[in-house]
Amino acid sequence: MTLKLSKLDNTLNLFCPRITCPYYQELDNIITKDGVYTTKGDGVPRQMFCCKKGNHRFSETGYSDLFGKHGSFKDYEQMCKLSCYGLSTDAIADVLDKDSRTIATWQRGVANKSNRFHNVVCLSITLTVLFIQMDELWSFLRNKNNPLWVFVGFEVDSRFWMNFELGSRTTHTATKLVKRLKDYIGIPFQGTPLKVTTDKLAAYKNALQSVFTDTAYVYLQIVKKRIKMRLVTVKKCFVQGSQDDFQGKTQNTSYIERFNLTLRQRVSYLQRKTLGYCKKKSNFTGILWINLFDYNYRCHHKSLRLPLTRQGTSKFQKKWTHRTPAMAMGLTQESLTWRFLFVAPILVTH
Ligand SMILES: [Zn+2]
Repeated sequence: MTLKLSKLDNTLNLFCPRITCPYYQELDNIITKDGVYTTKGDGVPRQMFCCKKGNHRFSETGYSDLFGKHGSFKDYEQMCKLSCYGLSTDAIADVLDKDSRTIATWQRGVANKSNRFHNVVCLSITLTVLFIQMDELWSFLRNKNNPLWVFVGFEVDSRFWMNFELGSRTTHTATKLVKRLKDYIGIPFQGTPLKVTTDKLAAYKNALQSVFTDTAYVYLQIVKKRIKMRLVTVKKCFVQGSQDDFQGKTQNTSYIERFNLTLRQRVSYLQRKTLGYCKKKSNFTGILWINLFDYNYRCHHKSLRLPLTRQGTSKFQKKWTHRTPAMAMGLTQESLTWRFLFVAPILVTH
């Protein structure tokens, strides 16, 4: 496996993933590359490693949670891609000709890995965060009398989906989200205070006040008033800071609202006016983690592309360099693949 992560090379250390080895997950071990092995099943070459202290070889699949779950990397990859097109577990099971319980197990495995990967990345590298927007999306749990809210935190300049939290529409849930965001930010960028905009929900205000005690931030609430579904007025309420702190196109919540649309499109549980709402909360969290990896690390984001200086007048010349949100954030140098996630060496906590 080649590490395509610029700042992460020191974080994603190789370790011995064999649970029976006495040097299991020990970090002062020496792990070296030791040839390539091609399986008969899918014909995809696997990197082999050598555990020097334990004196044995192991394959990169040892780093995969899905190892031994009776599917090939190709199956897992297809399952992940289908999960990011708004298909339900049953639909994916039908397409791939598997049992829906098998698909659910795979989804849990990938979701777990994506969660740990994202946390390792964001906690070991201090993110450059200048502008956060937060919003919540409604959905249901089990039946339509039981609302469930998805709180989302989003970094505007890099379009990076920082984290999310599921729960009731209360300060409690908002606080949990804001705490996670704070862990990722660490000490904010020198000089300029962190910009935050949200809608009028009081939960954010309370959460920010209780969590961002030693962080300089300016906070703007966008209060939208609707009469019979039609937008009548938009009021800006500067809770912390003033007009001058929000320069340019920052006095809005447009970016997160556009992102919400992407999410509703891609997560079947969030599709409106359908029966596809979630029956089990852990499945919902799982799908969101799979989508988080896809959105942040794998997919190019159109508004993040950079123009290339054109030489010559050829019609077929490349015009843009495409970037993923993680690239814009400076975490990776190119877009990652599903396979990269499967075999990424991340320590397991038991
Ligand atoms: Zn070993």
